[in-house]
Amino acid sequence: MTIVENPSPTGRKVSTLSHAIPQCPQCQQPLPEDAKFCLECGASLRGDRGDRKEAERELARLKKRVGELEYQVRQATSELPQAVTTAPELELTLARLLRKIAMILQAEKCVFMLHDPERGELQACKPALGFSDDQLEMLRVPATRGISGEAFRESKPVIVNDAVTDPRTMEEHVALLSIRNCLTVPLTMERKDDEERMVDRVTIGVLHVFNKRFGGNFVNEDTMLLTVLARQAAAVIANAQILIKLTKEKQQLEATLQSLVAGVVVVEADGHISLINSAACQIFEIESGAGKPVAEVILDERLLKLIESTVRDRIEAELEVELKVAGMPRIYQAQTALVKGQGEEMRGVVAIFSDITEIRNVEKMKSAFVSTVSHELRTPLTAIKGFVRTLLDDDEGYFNNQMRGEFLSIIDNECDRLKRLIEDLLNVSRIEQGKALQMNWKQFEVGVVFERVVATQRTQTERHTLALDVAVNFPKVLADEDKLEQILHNLVQNAIKYSPRGGVIKVSTSFDAKSYTVAVTDSGVGIPKNMFTKIFERFERVDNRDTREVGGAGIGLYLVRHLVEQHEGHIWVESETGQGSTFTFKIPIQPKKALDEIAKLH
Ligand code: ADP
Repeated sequence: MTIVENPSPTGRKVSTLSHAIPQCPQCQQPLPEDAKFCLECGASLRGDRGDRKEAERELARLKKRVGELEYQVRQATSELPQAVTTAPELELTLARLLRKIAMILQAEKCVFMLHDPERGELQACKPALGFSDDQLEMLRVPATRGISGEAFRESKPVIVNDAVTDPRTMEEHVALLSIRNCLTVPLTMERKDDEERMVDRVTIGVLHVFNKRFGGNFVNEDTMLLTVLARQAAAVIANAQILIKLTKEKQQLEATLQSLVAGVVVVEADGHISLINSAACQIFEIESGAGKPVAEVILDERLLKLIESTVRDRIEAELEVELKVAGMPRIYQAQTALVKGQGEEMRGVVAIFSDITEIRNVEKMKSAFVSTVSHELRTPLTAIKGFVRTLLDDDEGYFNNQMRGEFLSIIDNECDRLKRLIEDLLNVSRIEQGKALQMNWKQFEVGVVFERVVATQRTQTERHTLALDVAVNFPKVLADEDKLEQILHNLVQNAIKYSPRGGVIKVSTSFDAKSYTVAVTDSGVGIPKNMFTKIFERFERVDNRDTREVGGAGIGLYLVRHLVEQHEGHIWVESETGQGSTFTFKIPIQPKKALDEIAKLH
């Protein structure tokens, strides 16, 4: 022991006892105070002055002591698991080790402080012995300060016999954590080569034991013991940190792969599947496929060939295939990519299966839509052009005024038809862009509107009988009159269009305290069940001879549904093919949205 004068940054007593730990001048290992030989490298510590016999006796005594210490270390570390892969496992292992350390060194408290390179701090971490969670949270120091900083920075053990007066300790910690004395050793990881030569040494933190029991002080023997134990602990912590990080990354990667909408299959170079995500399991209709030969899981010849040729020729490729999944035809785009190892050697192939059914459907619908819309635009234009030409060519006054009037009214009607179609298209595009249609709310007698629609439609057909049944005492409703008229107009027009052989078209109504219901029934071509919801989507039409003959752009019902929903209502269809259809919509008498908008205006 030496007495040293230390300038104290805290202004505390500066003359203090400091324990300088003897180290071997050759290998820097800590030594027992009275050692004459280094046990690590065998160097003589007293030159050649010692008598040989005495030296041999001393060596034997020390070897015996080393044997005892080694036994204690083995006891403490015997239960340490080889590989810790989870954070709770690590905490459990370290807690066990800390208890043993405290027992062997007769310490009241024991704690690890790990280095956080980002903050440049040493931070106490769980598990610890004799500290509350709050105290642990508080126990953090810059890696350059205090006893912890010294042991970490210089990678050497430090003993403090009187924590209260030692200027190196941090006053606030000493008081708060009730520390009397302490022994601190670096947590150092050593990597050795095959011949047990040290190749790398990293200090990842420090290990403290505080307050020697029974009023004692920590001695050099404790230092040696704790240095060995800390080395074991550092190895466990460092390995576990790497494994935990890797395990976490692996789990995250697996979770990401599993949650992908696209199917992913990784095939090893030997043709076995090493990974398959749940989307791929669904596509290939299997429970699990990992470990199986790819040919057992992917039965489609074209896909199998794609993967096998990628493995064989080392050339990435892609393919579009139609597969039946859960009985439904789906279109998949399959792409393969090579999985390479560090040395660019091929380790396998990853195949990704993306469901592009919707994209292809929309593409098909769009091209069908372009041709139907062109047709829809051309029909009235042809009529307009024809009648205008006829009138222009009539130099000799062949057509009388009445006939001319009829021609002009046909032209007028066709122009209206064109205008309606263009307006509908513009509305679809507005809805597609997420713009709500402007609503013009007002209170009105709905029966009058229905009568107007039916009366107009009657003039358009001679083959159909249109019947309207408006319930007695039908209440006034809060709605957008033009839009409500458009809804019924579309439904009645469709009923006429899709009843080519004529028949009765019935518009019936009913109401209760909160809402009113309107149903349009025809006895026309009907709609197959699988189209009941689809026909309300844009560009969707039932594809059969009847519908092809009457023509249409497939946007009427899409707009109708949107207009009904704007009124906070809903629409549905019931139908039997060949028997007829009933379209019904139900709307609140006073939609909340309308009341809110009106309230805002006043
Ligand atoms: P469009 O009539 O212009 O094709 P709609 O959106 O109004 O477009 O209708 C979509 C499809 O629904 C129609 O193509 C037709 O196949 C079917 N449909 C609509 N109304 C009826 C009906 N009353 N009877 C039979 N099929 C109908």
